[in-house]
Amino acid sequence: MELSPLCTDSISTEGCVIKQDRGQRKSKVSRDVETEIENLNKAIPQLAKVFRIIDKIGEGTFSSVFLGEAQMHDGRREMFALKHLIPTSHPTRIAAELQCLTVAGGEESVMGATYCFRKEDHVVIVMPYMEHQAIVDIIGSLTFEEVRLYIYHLMKALKHVHQFGIIHRDIKPNNFLFNRKSKMYALVDFGLAQGTADTQIELLKDLSGLRKQPRPVFGERNLNSCTPAAATTKPAAIKAETLIQLVKSSKTEDPANRKYTAAGRGPLPVRTQSSTQKPQRAVQQGHTCNCYQTDRVCNICMSRKQQVAPRAGTPGFRAPEVLTKCPNQGTAIDVWSAGVILLSLLSGRYPFFKASDDLIALTQIMTIRGSRETIQAAKAFGKSVACSRDLPRQDLRTLCETLRGRRPSPDEVTPLPEANKDSSTACHHNIQDATPTHRPSVQHGAGESPLSSTLPEEPRDSETDCKVEVDERGWDRVPDEAYHLLDRLLDLNPATRITAAQALQHPLFKDL
Ligand code: ADP
Ligand code: MG
Ligand code: ZN
Repeated sequence: MELSPLCTDSISTEGCVIKQDRGQRKSKVSRDVETEIENLNKAIPQLAKVFRIIDKIGEGTFSSVFLGEAQMHDGRREMFALKHLIPTSHPTRIAAELQCLTVAGGEESVMGATYCFRKEDHVVIVMPYMEHQAIVDIIGSLTFEEVRLYIYHLMKALKHVHQFGIIHRDIKPNNFLFNRKSKMYALVDFGLAQGTADTQIELLKDLSGLRKQPRPVFGERNLNSCTPAAATTKPAAIKAETLIQLVKSSKTEDPANRKYTAAGRGPLPVRTQSSTQKPQRAVQQGHTCNCYQTDRVCNICMSRKQQVAPRAGTPGFRAPEVLTKCPNQGTAIDVWSAGVILLSLLSGRYPFFKASDDLIALTQIMTIRGSRETIQAAKAFGKSVACSRDLPRQDLRTLCETLRGRRPSPDEVTPLPEANKDSSTACHHNIQDATPTHRPSVQHGAGESPLSSTLPEEPRDSETDCKVEVDERGWDRVPDEAYHLLDRLLDLNPATRITAAQALQHPLFKDL
């Protein structure tokens, strides 16, 4: 790429067009953003010599992304996305992200990197700017054909990065940019990527050495707290005790019956264990675990060390093997996340799974894919999952059509259990989160997640309006192949889940 420093001259001599554009922008750019841009220019003065930073276009946990304009040697002006990584990022992590972009990016709908700036601990990755729409804004108006092409290009991008031995680990619509007009797609954000055993990205190999303890989330602290509950007053431990007390106050002490104690009123506590390790360890420690394969946590288990397994990403998009902390995770985890995206696009609901922690996410998966099926798949990858209630697997077409308002009766979809109305304790509150009320409502726009909260009853448009609008977009003609592919992407068992390369050969894409 040919970048030339933007001297002040070239800006002022360009005349009023640019100035006007700048003025319009300025009114939209908030004070905070202006300050951030100033700070960035101060942190890396070299940046300002090449780019005029115009606006902020993205903000994540680990970065801020800005829109920058540069003048090229041939006089053209080009737009770039400038990703400023948080200064606390590990240098190897940063270098690995950059290497993914430069080695695998720039083709096959994978974003490439053009340049990188660093001063002290400030790093900015420069990428070509791709204008795009947020899926949440357009989900209500997408045609089936647009959805089909979006998933096709996502599969192409995944096949490509997987060939390099890159596991992206954070596949979600915000990281797969889509320009509706130009039909362009770009996979971005390798900030959580990891390498397969035979990865071609050298720096991803180095990453495995510095992998940190996973950040604990509520459900994990609850089940895997390193400190015995009685010895601490941490909120998580209190919550865990509440869970235990609930068990003790229930009618039966028979462990065989415990798993059913909560089933009557709707809460669905889920727990997972490594089916090989835990009972053995308990024996070694001279304790007998009395909660194995129940949905309760005994004190022995409460004091166990947290199991370490990679679990980056966003809960609602995490594969079952990630949620259960299976230590060997592969590229199949990205395919699962793509399946969640397809489920979301076919049902018109984004986000589809909205979970604040991994156990809630697992419960939500079970309500769609079936609890028995989930338990069985988990067994296949060495995890024991217990669920207090048998949740039947749902038919994907029926589910999606109901959520789209194309099927009148919500009763045709196995309803998610009613949330427990009594939320007076922390424990109940948690369980209530895990068992969202399922009230599919008819919506034409972006629906909220069917699993996120109680949905308000939407006023329903007249039946004919609905049909005409939907027919134009092809939602009355969704072929079985789409639901077949969805089923294969959302295979609970990573060993049998379709790969991105196989998905491209799927009959749904036969004409592409
Ligand atoms: P984070 O790690 O903070 O999530 P991302 O790399 O995902 O950072 O970028 C955050 C957001 O910035 C993206 O969701 C997208 O909206 C925007 N963005 C990132 N890269 C580009 C790009 N090359 N062109 C246009 N927008 C981009
Ligand atoms: Mg991102
Ligand atoms: Zn136990």
